[in-house]
Amino acid sequence: MKVLVINCGSSSLKYQLINMENESCLAQGLIERIGTEGSGLTQKVEGREKYIVKQYMKDHKDAIKIVLDTLVDETNGVIKNVEEISSVGHRVVHGGEYYSSSVVIDEKVIQALEECSKLAPLHNPPNIIGINACKALMPNTPMVAVFDTAFHQTMPDHSYIYPLPYELYEDHKIRKYGFHGTSHKYVSQVAAEMMGKDIKDLKIISCHLGNGASICAIDGGKSIDTTMGFTPLAGLAMGTRAGDIDPAIVTYLMQELDLTPAQVSDLMNKKSGVLGVSGISSDFRDLKAAAEGNKRAQLSLDVFHYRIKKFISSYAGALGGVDCIIFTAGIGENSSDAREASCEGLEFLGVRIDKEKNNVAGKVAEISAEESIVKVFAIPTNEELMIARDTKELCQL
Ligand code: ADP
Repeated sequence: MKVLVINCGSSSLKYQLINMENESCLAQGLIERIGTEGSGLTQKVEGREKYIVKQYMKDHKDAIKIVLDTLVDETNGVIKNVEEISSVGHRVVHGGEYYSSSVVIDEKVIQALEECSKLAPLHNPPNIIGINACKALMPNTPMVAVFDTAFHQTMPDHSYIYPLPYELYEDHKIRKYGFHGTSHKYVSQVAAEMMGKDIKDLKIISCHLGNGASICAIDGGKSIDTTMGFTPLAGLAMGTRAGDIDPAIVTYLMQELDLTPAQVSDLMNKKSGVLGVSGISSDFRDLKAAAEGNKRAQLSLDVFHYRIKKFISSYAGALGGVDCIIFTAGIGENSSDAREASCEGLEFLGVRIDKEKNNVAGKVAEISAEESIVKVFAIPTNEELMIARDTKELCQL
């Protein structure tokens, strides 16, 4: 009962082989620079040295072939033959309005994913290439697609409809989709377990704070609103992404600076966020180190934390209360400063952080004070495990 989880980017591929009998990770790896010189694979297995393969891989099929060869390698592998892999779970970014849960992949699914490529031109095409490459190499192994958007398909229409002409939704599918769904779903389930409650009875606000960042309002286990939108550019200030801005800035920049749509998109996606404000870095560790004595570094962090606080408050309103707040992903799991600053001033909602308990990184912890009405948790996310669980369930292993 071993599930291979694949996450294909345009020139990279992440994988994990998970033993579903005890949900342990047998091996995890990363391939970078597919299609360019210097491509290679790094595999980690607990208790062993990192294993590195430097080899040119012209495409994703080459890359997946090397993943399979590495997994069955006599010295560095973890399984004897590829048949031990009972199914494959693929992370797919956009399932549009087609999918509100994971699905076993067949020709019809691939067609739907292709249609969704228009909505996620950077992400869906490499996801599809990864699926096809896997199918070519493992034609008899069942495969499942797990979508970043699926968890948010429960949002009510007043939450996902933009106040634009309604035909843009009908004819062009312009609406809020939301992303990071697999992560929000996973951490909210862990939080419910920690509280010893049925998730159906909880109002949860989940803050996924990594390079990309989003917050989700979860009522009874269902997403009712989230900060990312039609694309992953909306909402919070992020490492390099602007998040919510006045949309008129886009046309103003095009007119005043004579920028093309591609240039504005590049500016909003790659040169904004805390990198844009600080002028220093998109990495929060660099910003923290620079903040003392550097006004713009401090300002970028202030903007980041202020937006988190603002969305937590507004989602408490949208949910009609809040039982718990979760921090996850690179910043949420590791930065006690970010968690404390994002909750500062939320005492009126019944949120109180215990500074000592908050002094944790990379592990599951309750960080709220005894007297806090709202429980606050740091919970490392595990999207791969979530993908493997769905894959196992759908393939009825
Ligand atoms: P993604 O998966 O979106 O690429 P991650 O969830 O891995 O991102 O988060 C990466 C970010 O986490 C980095 O930009 C870094 O700023 C932040 N990060 C990692 N460790 C720490 C830490 N100890 N303190 C503050 N930020 C951290």
